[in-house]
Amino acid sequence: MAKKICTKCAKVKDLEEFGPDTRYTYKRKSWCNQCVSEYQREYTSSEKGKAARARAQRAYMQRLRDGEFVKKDSSRGNESE
Ligand SMILES: [Zn+2]
Repeated sequence: MAKKICTKCAKVKDLEEFGPDTRYTYKRKSWCNQCVSEYQREYTSSEKGKAARARAQRAYMQRLRDGEFVKKDSSRGNESE
């Protein structure tokens, strides 16, 4: 079994301990799953993390709304009758 050293806790762990998950924008693979989840928990409970999450949610909702407007606008310009 291949081993890898975690750059956060500096422990040698099995490769299985390093998630291949690409959904995380921060450190992945170089940090073990335990460090990633600890960081995630710390970040999401911090004021900075809460603000970032609220901002991301607002941006997502805005994108949904914009997407609908774009769709309506383009269908109006394409007259087939
Ligand atoms: Zn670690």
